[in-house]
Amino acid sequence: MIKTDLETLPISRSEFLQLEIFKNVSFESLAGYLLGCKTVTVEAGELLIDPEHPQRRLIVLLSGLMEVKMQAKGGNFSDTIQPGHCAGEMSIFDNIKPSAYVFAKEKSRLLIIEPEMALAMINASHDLCLNFLHMLSQRIRNNNRVVCEEEYHIRCIEENAKVDSLTGLHNRRWLEDMYTREINRSNAGNFKLCAFMMDIDHFKHVNDTYGHLAGDQVLIAVSKTIVDCLRPSDMPVRYGGEEFTVFLPGTSTENARVIAERLRASVERKDIQLPSGETIHATISVGFTERIEGDSVRSIIERADQALYHAKENGRNRVCLNIGDNNMFLF
Ligand code: GH3
Ligand code: MG
Ligand code: MG
Repeated sequence: MIKTDLETLPISRSEFLQLEIFKNVSFESLAGYLLGCKTVTVEAGELLIDPEHPQRRLIVLLSGLMEVKMQAKGGNFSDTIQPGHCAGEMSIFDNIKPSAYVFAKEKSRLLIIEPEMALAMINASHDLCLNFLHMLSQRIRNNNRVVCEEEYHIRCIEENAKVDSLTGLHNRRWLEDMYTREINRSNAGNFKLCAFMMDIDHFKHVNDTYGHLAGDQVLIAVSKTIVDCLRPSDMPVRYGGEEFTVFLPGTSTENARVIAERLRASVERKDIQLPSGETIHATISVGFTERIEGDSVRSIIERADQALYHAKENGRNRVCLNIGDNNMFLF
């Protein structure tokens, strides 16, 4: 019986045994079902599964290569299917139209199995069922990995968007989020918090005299000095062009004054090497204030900014404290 029937089978026993999807499956147990299947040869580029014109069928790749392409909001996914593996099985299992396009990536030979026949074959062979489970598990693992990598990638992009590329300090976008959280935390717990607003003195003159690249070097040097003078828990930000803010959680006015003065003096002392080989010096003015009840990010920064303005008006390269109601103390 087998001998005569085998002559009309779409694939030979030896070909069957080489296919991954039929691994450990007895050829004899499925030979009868294979009689109702057919093989086709397709050219490169031919569309085999089309979500817009769905046709439920299992396609086993005998030779050649298939490509899976999926377009979703904001991205593409593509994968290849090697000989011995299949496409179209998900629609057979869940009866939902396919979500991806499948093309022949090169000239390919396919075994086409109709859905009822595929389900009957799975019913007839536990090993075939296990092979499908194995294949689906591999795909789920693979997809999970892709999702995790994507998420990591997105997080890196989000993080980078909050960092100023010139100085490496955080930028305004980061400030909005983190300063709001910090002021809320400090208000709720009545914790001490000081805010600095700093600005490089006569920075326009540096740009005009030495060029924009030299100006950039000054910005980098000042940023590094600021970071070196602060604790890891302090929150320096490049606020704008040559303006910087810092939130100092848990810091009293007395301590903030010492830190502000240390910052000012460190910048003044710093030798800044220009690309030309020249060494120049810069100074900063610092305005600072301590949190008062009911402060918002905006109100505390505004007070620090008024103190900065006062320091500028009173000669620059100075530190000024604003205790509220425009009560300024110059140091
Ligand atoms: P003051 O002492 O009153 O602060 O004077 P100033 O010259 O520092 O202030 P002003 O606001 O007049 O000039 C700031 C300059 O900063 C003008 C702008 O071109 C420059 N600037 C802003 N961002 C950058 C930057 O990323 N790189 C460089 N090189 N210059 C910048
Ligand atoms: Mg300035
Ligand atoms: Mg300025």
